[in-house]
Amino acid sequence: MSTNENGLDAIKGVRTYAPGSDGYKQATSPRNSSATQHPLLVAAPTSIGQVAAAVRHAAAHDLRVVPQATGHGAASELGADVLLLDTSRLNAIQIDADRRIARVGAGATWGAVDSAAEKVGLLGRAGSAPDVGVSGFTFGGGAGWLTRPYGLAAGALIAVDFVDGTGHIRRAADDATDEVDRAALWAYRGGGGVGIAARLEFELVPVDDLWAGFLLWPIEALDAVVSAWARCVPRFGAALATSIAVLRAPSGPPIPRTLQGQQVVHLSMASSRGEGDAAALRQALTAVPAPLLDTLPLPTFWLLERGVEDAVHEGEVGEAQEATPEDGDAGQVAGRTAQEPAQLGDPAHGVSQGRWHGGWLGGLVGQSHLNSLWCQSVPH
Ligand SMILES: Cc1cc2nc3c(=O)[nH]c(=O)nc-3n(C[C@H](O)[C@H](O)[C@H](O)COP(=O)(O)OP(=O)(O)OC[C@H]3O[C@@H](n4cnc5c(N)ncnc54)[C@H](O)[C@@H]3O)c2cc1C
Repeated sequence: MSTNENGLDAIKGVRTYAPGSDGYKQATSPRNSSATQHPLLVAAPTSIGQVAAAVRHAAAHDLRVVPQATGHGAASELGADVLLLDTSRLNAIQIDADRRIARVGAGATWGAVDSAAEKVGLLGRAGSAPDVGVSGFTFGGGAGWLTRPYGLAAGALIAVDFVDGTGHIRRAADDATDEVDRAALWAYRGGGGVGIAARLEFELVPVDDLWAGFLLWPIEALDAVVSAWARCVPRFGAALATSIAVLRAPSGPPIPRTLQGQQVVHLSMASSRGEGDAAALRQALTAVPAPLLDTLPLPTFWLLERGVEDAVHEGEVGEAQEATPEDGDAGQVAGRTAQEPAQLGDPAHGVSQGRWHGGWLGGLVGQSHLNSLWCQSVPH
């Protein structure tokens, strides 16, 4: 295979990056940095036709094709037998508010999709982190904050425009005439898929009373918090999703100074049906030591894109109070915000209806959910 210095001629009509170029370096620096990637070439298509051209090129040169949107799921080493398809430019987002459907490029991230969808009071079945890609997430099943009331992201998938191994453009859908394409959709719904996706179409859900946030305690509170949470799980409202994790807290706001760099208990929660679904949990938590940080409810959907940390720096979560140990009253959950929840009808927020109490929990230390308990390995 021949490439010129910047790889532009390697695949006709498709931008490519050869080793040594800035584009190559960027595309082969996945978000999961534990994987090393040294593909023969990177192709960065901007249309499904370009994806098809890249796949045909790979077939002609006996290369494996590996798609990558964000690299969050990058797990294996890539070597000189690989053409890496950087799909991050396949990022167009179209929201059909009337039909509650999103059509998005396979390189789109959840943060971008939900930022567009929330403008019309809708959300996708996203997970905990806004910079995770819609494709890898959905094709792997996709469990998120809305899974309890609405189901997995894979269950919302309607169709996938994809390129098969021979370089042909196809559409996986339940109503496809070719049985292969009907089976392909089944494979994309959590089974990893069968080709290179270029565009996904999926259902959105109306969420007008999202309520979300997180609490932090020093690690010493772990037993008390887990016990209170576990006793209460059977009484959770049907839309409440929670996650307890042991993490090492990052530095800087909004983490209380006493917790920065320390092991902490992180309890995050979200309900798409308002605070009522969390009432039993909130009540149970009054029996444990007061958390040193309580962000409930995070004020709005700005956090979808910018993350909790940015919002706090800019004062938008300014009411999420930091409680000092002296403030701690074992009978109270400290640090609640007194701020009125943002109104979706507020023109400043560009959204038209309903109440909106929550935000993206993943911006700070967002992790898994679904009423799960887990520990992250903590470096010492
Ligand atoms: C911070 C963080 C939070 C997370 N939170 C959640 C969560 O809440 N719930 C949950 O279920 N998972 C969660 N995950 C896991 C995440 O869903 C997977 O890592 C997923 O694979 C990431 O998808 P991606 O497209 O961003 O990653 P990429 O590394 O770009 O892609 C991962 C894989 O997806 C497939 N893929 C990507 N694009 C295409 C395409 N165009 N065509 C065909 N296949 C493609 C490929 O197999 C690829 O190897 C989280 C991961 C991280 C890092």
